[in-house]
Amino acid sequence: MAKFKEECGLFGIFNHPEAANLTYLGLHALQHRGQEGAGIVSSDEIKLYTEKGIGLVSDIFSKEKIDKLQGNSAIGHVRYSTAGSSDLANTQPIYVTSSMGKMAIAHNGNLTNANKLKKHLEQNGAIFQTDSDTEVIIHLIAKSKKKSFLDRIIFALKKCEGAYSLLFLMKDMIIAARDPRGFRPLVLGTIKNSYVLASETCAFDLVEAETLREIKAGEIVTINEKGISSCSPLENQNKKAFCIFEHIYFSRPDSYVFGSSVYMTRKQLGRQLAKEHPIKADYVIPVPDSGVASAIGYSEESRIPLELGLLRNHYVGRTFIEPQQNIRNFGVKLKLNSIKEVLNKKKVIVIDDSIVRGTTCRKIIKMIKDAGATEVHVRISSPPTKDSCYYGIDTPDKSDLIANDLSVEQIRRYILADSLGYLSLRGLRNSVQKFSKYNVKNNYCVACFTSKYPTEIESR
Ligand code: SF4
Repeated sequence: MAKFKEECGLFGIFNHPEAANLTYLGLHALQHRGQEGAGIVSSDEIKLYTEKGIGLVSDIFSKEKIDKLQGNSAIGHVRYSTAGSSDLANTQPIYVTSSMGKMAIAHNGNLTNANKLKKHLEQNGAIFQTDSDTEVIIHLIAKSKKKSFLDRIIFALKKCEGAYSLLFLMKDMIIAARDPRGFRPLVLGTIKNSYVLASETCAFDLVEAETLREIKAGEIVTINEKGISSCSPLENQNKKAFCIFEHIYFSRPDSYVFGSSVYMTRKQLGRQLAKEHPIKADYVIPVPDSGVASAIGYSEESRIPLELGLLRNHYVGRTFIEPQQNIRNFGVKLKLNSIKEVLNKKKVIVIDDSIVRGTTCRKIIKMIKDAGATEVHVRISSPPTKDSCYYGIDTPDKSDLIANDLSVEQIRRYILADSLGYLSLRGLRNSVQKFSKYNVKNNYCVACFTSKYPTEIESR
């Protein structure tokens, strides 16, 4: 069950006659990363063209709008506002005219020193048009005295702390960059003679692109008519800090992120959970969709059959109208319903990815018990979420996180479960390593479980 607000998704393409169309499709595949707004900026090497809006990709872009996005290169963005409000001005890509020409920028992540940088820039005369941290990068680029765009971007990014996967579109090139700790994913692929970039490989599958490799942490890649070139001016001695929640919840299971399959990793989380917290029951029940892959793993390991005791309504958008009649747990019932034939008189193990505030979990368990289940044992495929994220995920304030001040037993009582088990941090680290091509076990950010942040946080 989605309990965190998602972050942002990026897509870019260079040198393809259908650049805007494919960007539109790529953004569709990345819609799970942000549903508040989306935008595309294209280039025909003379001019840049832009279309943006609030809402879902399918609501914003019509055929007429896509037709206006001329040229062979484009970048696109889906957003959930993690820094800055959710109005149109904050929707990306942000499009600006500078002394070096027109430029568009799309950002996934969150700068942890944005306030400090902004204050300094304002004291030196900069005027900000949005409250987005991405505009800080634009002002730093504009302030640089360097000759080339690339050198100006390097100048700007060297001053930035925190999480950023970025795409820049100029009239004749795309530049992609990833912060030195690599918080957010960014991958590079090809379609014949074109290059494509995306937050997740599921976008490549839709446009039939071949994945080449990840943009490395601290790497800046330039794509222009000469081909592709790379430099790593941002790399430093800091340990990598890939966001482990990309594997637990954010990324789509059909994607590969940080060198491993999200689906296989998520299933392994369930297997490990079954080893750490076994219990006898009639069925393993996933909370759809986030708990499905881990529930399959739990079921395989425990040899307890998997059943769909909860069904999700995929077509519900935002609902503004509530019935006047007081329907208990209305919000959860809009998204989920129980299957009584499965749950009645059964002992069940319910699998989900995390518990944030605990209110949704409590309502789901109530719904399962109302359907006749005699025992409900909750298993969570991550450790207790105790602290907020400052790297581009909109988690609630620390004081709203149930695990921040309640013990596991206290949480169990609050959510009305018969037992509750969380995956251990060690089990989580070992599971993400299992299907990775690289030695990444200790290269993950796990700060929302440990409160040990990989960077300084100015707003804590
Ligand atoms: Fe990911 Fe949590 Fe780190 Fe944020 S704090 S980057 S959600 S692991």
